[in-house]
Amino acid sequence: MAIRHALLLSLLAATVLMTHAAAAAAQTAEPIRYILSFPAPHTHYAEVTATVPTGRQPSVELMMAVWTPGSYMVREYSRNVEAVTAAGPDGRALAVEKSEKNRWRVTTGGAPTITFKYRVYGREMSVRTNWIEAGFALINGAPTFVTLADRSPRPHEVAIVPAAKWARSMTGLPEMTGGPHRYRAPDFDTLADSPIVLGNPAVYEFTVEGKKHYLVNEGEGGVFDGPRAAKDLEAIVRENLRMWGSLPYDKYVFLNLLTEAGGGLEHKNSTVLMGSRWLTRTRRSYVAWLELASHEFFHAWNVKRLRPVELGPFDYETEVHTKSLWIAEGFTDYYGDLVVHRAGLASREEFLDSLSTKIEELQTAPGRLVQSVELASFDAWIKYYRPDENSSNTSISYYTKGAVVAFLLDAKIRKQTNQARSLDDVMRAAYQRFADTRGYAAAEFRAVAEQVAGISLASFWDSAVSGTSELDYAEALDVLGLRFRSASAPAERPGRAWLGVTTRNDAGRLLVSQVRRDGPALDAGLNVDDEILAIGDFRVRADRLDARLDQYRPGDRVTLLVARREQLTRLDLTFGTEPARGWRLEVHPAASDTQQTSRLKWLTAGKA
Ligand SMILES: [Zn+2]
Repeated sequence: MAIRHALLLSLLAATVLMTHAAAAAAQTAEPIRYILSFPAPHTHYAEVTATVPTGRQPSVELMMAVWTPGSYMVREYSRNVEAVTAAGPDGRALAVEKSEKNRWRVTTGGAPTITFKYRVYGREMSVRTNWIEAGFALINGAPTFVTLADRSPRPHEVAIVPAAKWARSMTGLPEMTGGPHRYRAPDFDTLADSPIVLGNPAVYEFTVEGKKHYLVNEGEGGVFDGPRAAKDLEAIVRENLRMWGSLPYDKYVFLNLLTEAGGGLEHKNSTVLMGSRWLTRTRRSYVAWLELASHEFFHAWNVKRLRPVELGPFDYETEVHTKSLWIAEGFTDYYGDLVVHRAGLASREEFLDSLSTKIEELQTAPGRLVQSVELASFDAWIKYYRPDENSSNTSISYYTKGAVVAFLLDAKIRKQTNQARSLDDVMRAAYQRFADTRGYAAAEFRAVAEQVAGISLASFWDSAVSGTSELDYAEALDVLGLRFRSASAPAERPGRAWLGVTTRNDAGRLLVSQVRRDGPALDAGLNVDDEILAIGDFRVRADRLDARLDQYRPGDRVTLLVARREQLTRLDLTFGTEPARGWRLEVHPAASDTQQTSRLKWLTAGKA
């Protein structure tokens, strides 16, 4: 092992040296310089002028990303680009030809630099896209900045001309001297990984380990409690510092857009969060927001630096598949909640409630028996990000199952090591070994877990990661001193008739949204978008289906009257029984106090 380790270290050292040499060369290369301006933000447009070195090539090709790392779907950002022109240093127009859906070829005439101008429309309220309006703008790198398609390593500098009434620009990009709103990314990846918020947001600052952290709130509206949120984010940062041992960035920016939208996206030294300005008003919504912020912040380690080998350097022009999103996202989701609890911001019950919701979501989705968490990762591009009415039958979320697998793996390691080691040690060891290198192959991450656990995890991996069989919770419950609540409690409504469909109320019409593959409606021939009019000879109002189902028992045979594309159809159906929903965790009351103290260590580990 020592020899292997030494070899690995020398290989790593060689890689690091090469990387440093390449990085040094890249920094002396001539930069691409952008001017990003907002002459009429109320029209939702930004204007970009890129001055691009040509190396005196007769033509250069520029490209815009088609996707954003962290959000695995091709989104064709170039569809928002218009008014493209190019000129030489003397201002004379140069020929521009659209060469691919996201590329432009400029004939340079031998000029050393060209100026490439375009406008970008930004009115999609999501964490990965652009939003531009009179009051503020969110600018993401991938949907905004073109770069040389040859991706020759070079700095990318941005000078921003904010709209007249905007005072601030906030971003994780390193600032340049020579005035405000000037930034320099050492490479295109950094530019693409550094969203910018412009406007007049409320900004809160705190320092941990000598490093500045910013909470940037756009849209507080006198409602959102900014000081409290900043104080609690600081607790989350400190809890991560305890777990990981250091903070891996020079500064960190929480870009928090209170725009009544939702979502979060991770970056190396920032994150974009979207939520409601009202969310500090109720305990439940606030804890959920802290869990979201904690999830995105945990990504500063897990995925942005400790990453699957496939996730970098990025090809921004095509899909990048990895089987390891269940680690990158699922483990992050597990820790996102756990860290909020460990930091003292959510109670034990609140944490168990969040974890229970994940377990319940997984255990009640028929797709858990169809798609493995590895394949769910690989197919994120075509399944998770493109859901339809059949998704819950055929797929599972790598967030949800990944988090549940993390929980089970954590328990298994704690059992094998008599509570001496845990998944925390796996994350730290994997970070030590793989962070800022080429990343880990799936088998390498497993090897680290096995080394920490001291046993082979082959059978666990085969069933929980590569397989689709039911997960076994017994060991985790025993090791961690937990039980499922309903194991001792009666079901909520025993013996109630079950259709196996999800419905929606469409202006009084009772429409089928989903048909479960394990329910009786599928066999009866009920379809998505059918309107249920009657059960037997009795009309069912859209808001009365639940109450009507209370009148029947599993095994009862009925005829459903449905309208399908305006034609009436009768379907014979035998009601079934809804699968048990007993997936709410609680601390097992039977265990002795001393046992419990050691069992419940997982909830506090990381504390000094
Ligand atoms: Zn995530």
